[in-house]
Amino acid sequence: MKQLFAIAALAAAFGAQPPVPPPTAVRAARLIDGRGGAPIAPAVVLIRGERIEAVGANLPIPAGARIIDLGGATLLPGLIDLHTHLTSTGVHWEDELLKTTPGQAALHGARNAMVTLQAGFTTCRDMGPTWPYTDIDLRKAIDEGVVPGPRLMVAGNYVSATGGAGDARQFSIFVDVPIVRNLADGPDEIRKAVRTNLKAGADFIKILATGAVLSKGTPPGAQQYTEDELRVAVEEAARWGRHVAAHAHGTDGIKAAIRAGIHTIDHGSMMDDEAVALMRTHHTAFVPTLYTSESIAADPNVPESEKARSKQIAAVKDKSFQLVLKAGLPIGFATDAAVVPHGQNAREFGMRVRLGQSPMDAIVSATRAAAEIIGWGDRVGTVEAQRFADLIAVSGDPLRDITELERVTWVMKGGIVYKDPQSAIRHPQ
Ligand SMILES: [Zn+2]
Repeated sequence: MKQLFAIAALAAAFGAQPPVPPPTAVRAARLIDGRGGAPIAPAVVLIRGERIEAVGANLPIPAGARIIDLGGATLLPGLIDLHTHLTSTGVHWEDELLKTTPGQAALHGARNAMVTLQAGFTTCRDMGPTWPYTDIDLRKAIDEGVVPGPRLMVAGNYVSATGGAGDARQFSIFVDVPIVRNLADGPDEIRKAVRTNLKAGADFIKILATGAVLSKGTPPGAQQYTEDELRVAVEEAARWGRHVAAHAHGTDGIKAAIRAGIHTIDHGSMMDDEAVALMRTHHTAFVPTLYTSESIAADPNVPESEKARSKQIAAVKDKSFQLVLKAGLPIGFATDAAVVPHGQNAREFGMRVRLGQSPMDAIVSATRAAAEIIGWGDRVGTVEAQRFADLIAVSGDPLRDITELERVTWVMKGGIVYKDPQSAIRHPQ
């Protein structure tokens, strides 16, 4: 420390201090800051480097500041999607194993990341690729500034039971897909899978607690891991300081996951009163994906058998959402994109409001609440001093028309503008 001070003093003496970059002032008609309070109008956000310096209605703008005047627009924090699959190539995941390569997945991932960012999502928790670890490479490329994309928290690989939702079932039993080592049964194999994924660079663990809509074999409602198996994943991840997210549709699997200490229940299609009570006791977060049913019904790549599964679940999962909403538990925002096309993530907002969530609460679930769920409340999710300058704008008022969020006109991430009304994309300088 002493040495650092000495160097700084020396640099100052020779006039060699790096110049302080001028701040940027973003002006707009109003700001919804992500904390759920009344909008600030008019709004000024002062940005220095990649961080927000100050926020207010009538902040004085320092001399020399670069001014971005967004006129009548509404400013919001960059949105957060807690359940994406960015490195998907657009074909059914089992076909990906036969017909695509990890290289393709990475390139598609770069494209999908850019599209997602331009749609206003500046942070995503990516819930596992078909080709293992391509999401880790994508996160690195984004962090290094090689490709534009959201801040990513990634799972690296699925942890699935043999014959479970992550086990490709279209092949003959004599055909092996050896590169995808995502199957783990029993405590020892699960512990090893968790360690392997975290060693590879995963930020958290994704485990498949129940069957899935877009898988063959047992139905989405079927539990596929025992509570003890789930608990091993939670305990091992906790040793690394990481959380576990469970893909869970069926009631028994949901309850086992909550009791085992799983941090987020993703999809959570078949909730009941007991599951809600358990979530409250265990401080579990709920991460529903409601718009998926409409997307699956319209997707020509989804086999008919899996469309039928989706239909069965659609009405039940809407009721589950309403149950958790009524209970006032923390709800994160998620889409399951690529199931919902990348870049159309904001369509989930319309579903939320149709099912009874207020527009402001829907916005908070995709901003402050989502950030807090993944432990990033100190850096993203709200427009406050010290947070990253991740901001978006829409031309109207999303509290009056939530679909405004489907038409994001301007995007800034870390102080760099990635989309503005004048140009389709502006890369970092
Ligand atoms: Zn998913």
